[in-house]
Amino acid sequence: MYDPRSLKAEEFINHDEILETLRYADENKDNLELIDSIIEKARKRKGLNHREASVLLVCEDKERLDVLYSLAKEIKNDFYGNRIVMFAPLYLSNYCVNGCVYCPYHQKNKHIARKKLSQEEIRREVIALEDMGHKRLALETGEDPVNSPIEYVLESIKTIYSIKHKNGAVRRVNVNIAATSVENYRKLKEAGIGTYILFQETYHKESYEKLHPTGPKHDYAYHTEAMDRAMEGGIDDVGLGVLFGLELYRYEFAGLLMHAEHLEAVHGVGPHTISVPRIKRADDINPDDFDNGISDEVFLKLIALIRIAVPYTGMIISTRENKSVRERALELGISQISGASRTSVGGYAEEDRDEEDSSQFDVSDNRSLDEVVSWLMRNGHIPSFCTACYREGRTGDRFMSLCKSGQIQNCCHPNALMTLKEYLMDYASLETRNIGEALIEKELENIPKENVKNITKERLERIEKGERDFRF
Ligand code: SF4
Ligand code: SF4
Repeated sequence: MYDPRSLKAEEFINHDEILETLRYADENKDNLELIDSIIEKARKRKGLNHREASVLLVCEDKERLDVLYSLAKEIKNDFYGNRIVMFAPLYLSNYCVNGCVYCPYHQKNKHIARKKLSQEEIRREVIALEDMGHKRLALETGEDPVNSPIEYVLESIKTIYSIKHKNGAVRRVNVNIAATSVENYRKLKEAGIGTYILFQETYHKESYEKLHPTGPKHDYAYHTEAMDRAMEGGIDDVGLGVLFGLELYRYEFAGLLMHAEHLEAVHGVGPHTISVPRIKRADDINPDDFDNGISDEVFLKLIALIRIAVPYTGMIISTRENKSVRERALELGISQISGASRTSVGGYAEEDRDEEDSSQFDVSDNRSLDEVVSWLMRNGHIPSFCTACYREGRTGDRFMSLCKSGQIQNCCHPNALMTLKEYLMDYASLETRNIGEALIEKELENIPKENVKNITKERLERIEKGERDFRF
């Protein structure tokens, strides 16, 4: 039944194969010889399959775990250096016809304020985001064919890309909307989206159906097969994720890796990103109602093992997590974070910032973008506002082959420095700017190729004089 090449959800995310994987992992939990051989394989930086990674997930040997955490950090540094890509979510509408029991936007919630942004309101949101320095957005909207049909999403993307405010511009719009048809994915591709993101929520079919009792999202197969339709529609960067806390994390972990293996087997390219949201408190949602919540320790172990299992995949953590968890997660493999997020519809431009009204979840990290940028730099990371690959057409397998050849280091690093420089010139506080200038000076020396280093220096000077938007 299990077939990673199949296009049927229940065959590429096969329940029996997951149960068998968990059994295999339990049996080999103390098999140090096997664990060591899996670690050796992981050192080659070519990834692990779901069975191998599941064995490591149950490993409790302190010495081996320390090795795994160091390896995750090394792999992060090999593929992503010390750069962290910044983004912000933008909520367009919270009308939703689904009944997801963990989300306050579910249709039966009658007291949450429902809002849908007009194009003028989107303009105001985007200007507020550009005024902070954001260049990369993730669009979010509930599923509602009447209030937010695909035409509305397409028009909104067009509006967002059209807004040039002072030196600001949104250069990449990633989209997180409900599973849809090949035809609609094609339209999204034509509208110039970056990554199409869709969280699976849970890979466990029976739980999935209970957690999504009503609405189109109830259909497990349609949801799980969405990435295949997106790829058929021409979108080659797709982002996966599960909502940790809904089901047993070991089940989700195996399912997530099987999904990645499936995409690689069928389309020749794995997921562009994996997000790791954990269930959080929100309007009528209490995370304690879900009994599969995971501790910070388990959460960080999952992050480290995803990094090791899929070394080329970007990993995203949001402001659902607080500063200290984010700080540790960044050391273990996270490559993208959101900053200064508003999880309500219209939350960026609103004067009174009345988040309780329409937010999807409570934010645990409330710092401004300037504070997040400064904190990252003080912790040795380079905040990057780079969107170069997407704009140079380096997506899907073209991106992956560049990444696998190691050449991306000669693009990402200088691009990070140049986009950081733009940020420092246009948006940073004096203190942040001082930290950033010193960091750029130091990091210039870490550009491997001499000619790239010289071009970067010259471009940094031109940015200082007012020019913008350079990229490799
Ligand atoms: S998770 Fe998405 S689909 Fe489900 S209720 Fe919330 S907005 Fe709607
Ligand atoms: S060069 Fe490409 S992979 Fe590197 S940070 Fe920029 S967009 Fe990302």
